[in-house]
Amino acid sequence: MESQRTIRRKVSIEGVGLHSGEPVTLTLSPAASDTGILFRAADGTLIPANTDHVVNFHFATTLGAFGVRVRTVEHLMAAAHGLGIDNLLVDVSAGELPAMDGSAKGFVEMLERAGRVSLPAPRKALMIDEPIRVEDGDRFIQVVPSDTFRISYTLDHNHPVIGLQVASLEITETTFVDEVAPARTYGFLRDVGAMRRNGLARGGSLDNAIVVGKRSVLNDSLRFADEFVRHKILDLVGDLFLLGRPLVGHVVARNAGHALNYQILVAIQKAMTADRRRARMRAVTPLALTAMAPAFESACPVAPGTAAR
Ligand SMILES: [Zn+2]
Repeated sequence: MESQRTIRRKVSIEGVGLHSGEPVTLTLSPAASDTGILFRAADGTLIPANTDHVVNFHFATTLGAFGVRVRTVEHLMAAAHGLGIDNLLVDVSAGELPAMDGSAKGFVEMLERAGRVSLPAPRKALMIDEPIRVEDGDRFIQVVPSDTFRISYTLDHNHPVIGLQVASLEITETTFVDEVAPARTYGFLRDVGAMRRNGLARGGSLDNAIVVGKRSVLNDSLRFADEFVRHKILDLVGDLFLLGRPLVGHVVARNAGHALNYQILVAIQKAMTADRRRARMRAVTPLALTAMAPAFESACPVAPGTAAR
């Protein structure tokens, strides 16, 4: 059985939040087994990275606890998921993670710089054992059983620069680092004004996002011909790690976003809870019956059908 992992040493980086435009220092520290990914805000508030602490998913995934929020966690979460880092303490000096270059590449480099250590606890992967699906019109995410973690994504955008992009990748550390992590987030030039008025994309620039103009991207070049769909896969790898453990299953998605990603998390969690309940019933029922029978007899020393008031 595989062991859980954390990082070997503390690492820090400084940057600017993509949406807030605020400067932020991010520090990653080793954490004990079964901690998971644990965020710590500047005032010391601890925010576990799990579905229960998702407070907003518009344009980015935001976690919160006791009114304190940490925004845009998905690219760091993706890097931790992709590199098999189960436990991490994440200190953020402001309310949003640094945008880096708009991808997970900088977070991967940070985690590689920190080194990795195995912990004396088994990793509990989450095996999908029956299909689970969420949808919203023609957008959907479906997870089906598989021996590996695979994402098959269809991005069908009516913008001529994006068009139809399809990618299917088994997510291993190698494919994640080489094929997914460098894919940058993107936005449309036509939306920038409205987004900024709504407090979004304030730190956004050609250095940390692909900016899509009317007929072409404004950046010098793309890192992959299908960089857009690869970034959608990256976001999904990150959001799925909010389940608190690595996923084993085949995720098939079409035109999803953080909102639908959140819905599949909730649906998976619900199925897990129902599974646990069924497993408990299976394990408990026969034992409970045999254990209870003599107790019932001794407590009620009367023949069945007689008055036992
Ligand atoms: Zn993203």
